[in-house]
Amino acid sequence: MTLTRWFGRLRGWREARTLERRAIPDALWQLTLARFPFLARRSDADLARLRELATLFLADKEFAGMQGLEVDDGMAVAIAAQACLPVLRLGLSHYDAFKGIVVHPDAVLARREVMDEDGVVHRYDEELAGEAMEGGPVMLSWRDVVEAGDSAEWGYNVVVHEFAHVLDMRDGAPDGVPLLPDRDARARWLAVLEPEWQDFCDRVDAGEDTLIDPYGAEAIDEFFAVSSEVFFVAGAELRREHPALYELLAGYYRQDPASD
Ligand SMILES: [Zn+2]
Repeated sequence: MTLTRWFGRLRGWREARTLERRAIPDALWQLTLARFPFLARRSDADLARLRELATLFLADKEFAGMQGLEVDDGMAVAIAAQACLPVLRLGLSHYDAFKGIVVHPDAVLARREVMDEDGVVHRYDEELAGEAMEGGPVMLSWRDVVEAGDSAEWGYNVVVHEFAHVLDMRDGAPDGVPLLPDRDARARWLAVLEPEWQDFCDRVDAGEDTLIDPYGAEAIDEFFAVSSEVFFVAGAELRREHPALYELLAGYYRQDPASD
């Protein structure tokens, strides 16, 4: 047996044991689905798979509460279930690059510095509901996580947003392109995403109301993240307004939430 196969078997055995011994209790799982209707409306088969992935996610990741926040089981399951939605068909190994999830009670202010063309440094505070760093932990605001059932109405989901960045960063710095099989696939991806993004930026500049969060105009990697949010929590609307973008995301995530 090759070493890779041996590790594969070991992982399979460990996963089976985790699923058996550390399964998410029924009551807690039902509470989670009631909190987040965009999860509850998925098929029974999807939900069974999601529950398994969330169980394995909880066993693998480390949660840390900040500013006196204690992360209880209900909170951890709420985060795990939403985090596993994007990798429902891709598998949990897509999240192997990080271990830690840092949870703040609310959005946090981060000090930012930017240098303009004249070399003048501007300092400002940016309010963050979440952050994903290359190789580092994922930060989330609990208030934003728990309000995701309501905020789905306007296509907002902080957990999906940050984990889309994690997927984007599997092949290095975030650039709006997740890890794809080859250069051709990358070129085909950009042939759809770039014109969608340009058109979106023009609409945001013109002050139009957009289905996708105008924050996506900041950079193409942010556009991938905010589009992914709408894809998972308001898929039918995304398919109606941005069919090509919807198809692109459906192909990558191997999911069709608008049809569920
Ligand atoms: Zn972002």
